[in-house]
Amino acid sequence: MDKISKERRSWNMSRIRSSNTSLELEVRKALHALGFRYRLRSSLPGHPDIVFPKKRVALFINGCFWHSHGCKLSTIPTTRHDFWAEKLGNNKNRDKRVNGQLKAMGWRVVTLWECEIKEQFERELARVVKVIGPASNHGIRNI
Ligand SMILES: [Zn+2]
Repeated sequence: MDKISKERRSWNMSRIRSSNTSLELEVRKALHALGFRYRLRSSLPGHPDIVFPKKRVALFINGCFWHSHGCKLSTIPTTRHDFWAEKLGNNKNRDKRVNGQLKAMGWRVVTLWECEIKEQFERELARVVKVIGPASNHGIRNI
């Protein structure tokens, strides 16, 4: 297609990527403030974004576009439609496979979506906290 829409498209995509990174930071900060300690960049299947080793909980923070959420942020581009459809379809299949692998290894998997974090941060955070359980290193009781 024409040059402008191509440039515009790649700008949109870089914006999606960087906004996802800042969302991850926001989630990390909030969890840390609540007393949770975690690991990043795990070597587990699919490299979960945030891992709670003691609780065996793996957290993914998914960009809606890259992981085909199905919401309004995840429309497949009309330019090179087939390319994107295949690429994004592969991503989705990989996510599914990875979730299965992690569960088989005894991990619980929580997926947070870009659009939901943006719209209902507190609710999404509460959902994570509910799965992880209370922070073990909060206060003096640490058993
Ligand atoms: Zn979404």
